[in-house]
Amino acid sequence: MAEQDDILEIRKSVRHLCDQYGEDYWLQLDRERGYPTEFVRELTTSGFLTVLIPEEYGGAGLGVYEAAAVMEEVCRSGAHAGACHAQMYVMGSVLRHGNEVQKKTYLPAIAAGELRLQSFGVTEPSTGTDTTNLKTVARRDGDEYVINGQKVWISRIEHSDLMILLARTTPREQVSRKTRGLSAFIIDVSAAIGNGLEIRPIESMINHHSCELFFDDLHIPADNLLGEEDEGFRVILDGMNAERILIAAECVGDGRYFIDKASAYARERIVFGRPIGQNQGVQFPIARCYTEVEAASLMVEKAARMFDAGEPCGAEANMAKMLASEASWRAGDVCMQTHGGFAFAKEYHIERKFRETRLYQIAPISTNLILSYLGEHVLDLPRSF
Ligand SMILES: Cc1cc2nc3c(=O)[nH]c(=O)nc-3n(C[C@H](O)[C@H](O)[C@H](O)COP(=O)(O)OP(=O)(O)OC[C@H]3O[C@@H](n4cnc5c(N)ncnc54)[C@H](O)[C@@H]3O)c2cc1C
Repeated sequence: MAEQDDILEIRKSVRHLCDQYGEDYWLQLDRERGYPTEFVRELTTSGFLTVLIPEEYGGAGLGVYEAAAVMEEVCRSGAHAGACHAQMYVMGSVLRHGNEVQKKTYLPAIAAGELRLQSFGVTEPSTGTDTTNLKTVARRDGDEYVINGQKVWISRIEHSDLMILLARTTPREQVSRKTRGLSAFIIDVSAAIGNGLEIRPIESMINHHSCELFFDDLHIPADNLLGEEDEGFRVILDGMNAERILIAAECVGDGRYFIDKASAYARERIVFGRPIGQNQGVQFPIARCYTEVEAASLMVEKAARMFDAGEPCGAEANMAKMLASEASWRAGDVCMQTHGGFAFAKEYHIERKFRETRLYQIAPISTNLILSYLGEHVLDLPRSF
């Protein structure tokens, strides 16, 4: 783990990089539904988006604790980390479950910014959160797999060279546990499009570049299996704790962004001859949000340290994600209220961030599913589904 001085240096450098882009850059992309290609490239080549890749494969070899600091600063600057965050946690699946050939093929190229691994395909329209019930199938045929099925909400695939896909390789009726019989694959996106993979963008509330995917006899090399056949759920599950911690860190960044903005405006905006922030009706909600974001940040830090120490951290990662996503949402709401009518003006940027941070109570996992995990696995309450 980096020393405290190093973490401060990482934060300062990320802030400096983000300052080169500014909030108008993100507003323009939001309007045009554009992708921040230059920003993502710079975040990659400057080594921040690849901090988790071990040094032997060209990365910085740091932990989730440091990666969380990067993502928090990106969000705190007003940027939209949803355009690029997946590379951090998806590549963990390749690192932990890939064979040596896969690791040597992909990780150095990802670290150098030559290959983008920004996309993962799990969610399906008919099964949603019930992941182990997914319907996409991969059938072994000689030295290939043939994939058929459908996915939904698969983000960034249009801006990614590779995707990790979860598909069923053994029917659910034939496996002892429902989590078995699923396999993970590395998909070469440009080779797949037009040869069994069709992509349709989804128009959505935020600029997230999410798509529907249709697989119709897509042939991929059997060598692209990631981890063991039928054990793909573990490949995906392993990345989920990192994903939750990093998303939680982004929410802390969003929360701090909203509190900075709300406090600054409440100090400056004069109504009835005094700053609105002098009214405790304006001041207290901001102070309450500050308390909630700081508390969530402690849980993010705890979860990240446990993850990096190799300790089981499912409960902490889930709690961090829930607390931080709720705190950032409330901070966004208070920031809107503090700005009055101006909150609705796009040039103030708040309504964009408000929309963006709302996602994290739903994706990558919804609050109910976190509560159900805690109820069942931590509190030993009866299983409900
Ligand atoms: C912008 C965006 C980007 C995304 N990007 C990706 C991506 O890149 N890759 C990917 O694979 N997926 C992605 N997703 C999908 C996301 O992970 C899912 O939307 C999320 O997991 C919820 O699944 P669902 O939408 O099918 O909701 P559902 O499973 O249909 O659930 C709907 C609601 O019912 C609740 N619910 C369901 N079952 C229960 C229960 N048993 N008890 C209590 N409450 C329950 C849920 O909490 C939720 O609030 C993205 C989604 C969005 C919106």
